[in-house]
Amino acid sequence: MANVRVALRVRPLSKREAKDGGRIIVEVDGRVATIRNLKVDDRPDGFGDSREKVVTFGFDYCYWSVNPEDPRYASQDVVFQDLGTEVLSGAAKGYNICLFAYGQTGSGKTYTMLGTPASMGLTPRICEGLFSREEDHPSLPSSCRIKVSFLEIYNERVRDLLKQSDQKKPYTLRVREHPEMGPYVQGLSQHVVTNYKQVIQLLEEGIANRITAATHVHEASSRSHAIFTIHYTQAILENNLPSEIASKINLVDLAGSERADPSYCKDRITEGANINKSLVTLGIVISTLAQNSQVFSSCQSLNSAASDGGDSGIPSSSSRTSSGGRPSRKQSYIPYRDSVLTWLLKDSLGGNSKTIMVASYSETMSTLRYASNAKNIINKPRVNEVRPS
Ligand code: ADP
Repeated sequence: MANVRVALRVRPLSKREAKDGGRIIVEVDGRVATIRNLKVDDRPDGFGDSREKVVTFGFDYCYWSVNPEDPRYASQDVVFQDLGTEVLSGAAKGYNICLFAYGQTGSGKTYTMLGTPASMGLTPRICEGLFSREEDHPSLPSSCRIKVSFLEIYNERVRDLLKQSDQKKPYTLRVREHPEMGPYVQGLSQHVVTNYKQVIQLLEEGIANRITAATHVHEASSRSHAIFTIHYTQAILENNLPSEIASKINLVDLAGSERADPSYCKDRITEGANINKSLVTLGIVISTLAQNSQVFSSCQSLNSAASDGGDSGIPSSSSRTSSGGRPSRKQSYIPYRDSVLTWLLKDSLGGNSKTIMVASYSETMSTLRYASNAKNIINKPRVNEVRPS
């Protein structure tokens, strides 16, 4: 498995979009997404550029989930067979895995991560896979332990979704850094689970808690990030010595990407739309990691779109490039600690982890650019093995 995978998913138009005459302007063919006819520059003086504009982006996977009758149609199962099974096999080998969904509110992140009762998404399928794996392979190192936690980050504060919190001040938990284990949330509850039913109950409990704090369903998912973490530990015998392989799976449903767009937030100050510091920092971390990867990699299949100079939707890290926009020779500092999300995911982005990003496409090209930048990150995952001293 490559250490960073980036997938693009295109959902069907909603009834309302269809009624309003909306159309899908992205096309996918294999691993390439193409946008045609971007807004032509129709200047009033008649000198606008009216040529058709075509921009292409390459990904590891492109999922066309628009119409089930289409032979290219990518169902929830197709997405799981590609991405979910990578999560499971990576976890079984002892890697940390982070799978995150990125895109505007309404673009399909929650559908991909959680799905609907009739059409389960990645998180429940991955959980199911963890348990059936144990049952299917009774000879696996017998004692596997699974613990889960579920948190929400809102306005740079953390809240435990699986513990009753003070209704008036729910977001009170702090992120700390352990010298060996890395960043963690102090006081976050962890729940031992022994079967699939238990884990799904916890997942549902957390989702219900998330929605209660918001004034409506969409507000919860548009303004905050949710991280469901599975700690998966396998006891093994190596050279007759007991040992453990520990893997952490982070499944992240990000806040709507419009929350990183200053113009969106400026227009909505009255409804309390703060620019989302975590999303903005995630963009900076991704673009800095991508730049660093370019410095050290001569053989990467660099995605031309990532460097095509347009509005990437990602704020660039200042003074990180030499003059002329070329990547500098020096590795740039990665500002993980600038936001709660990136600090917590430090080991999952560019570090000791395998990273999968599913970008849900809707309308704007910045999602494609953001995702295509993520494709240039190189991680260096290693198996987490704990030997008794
Ligand atoms: P987000 O989490 O990004 O705000 P949602 O996942 O809630 O967006 O998706 C918005 C709407 O579109 C929901 O009604 C959802 O069921 C529907 N939807 C999203 N993706 C798909 C898909 N691949 N197939 C069918 N419906 C989808």
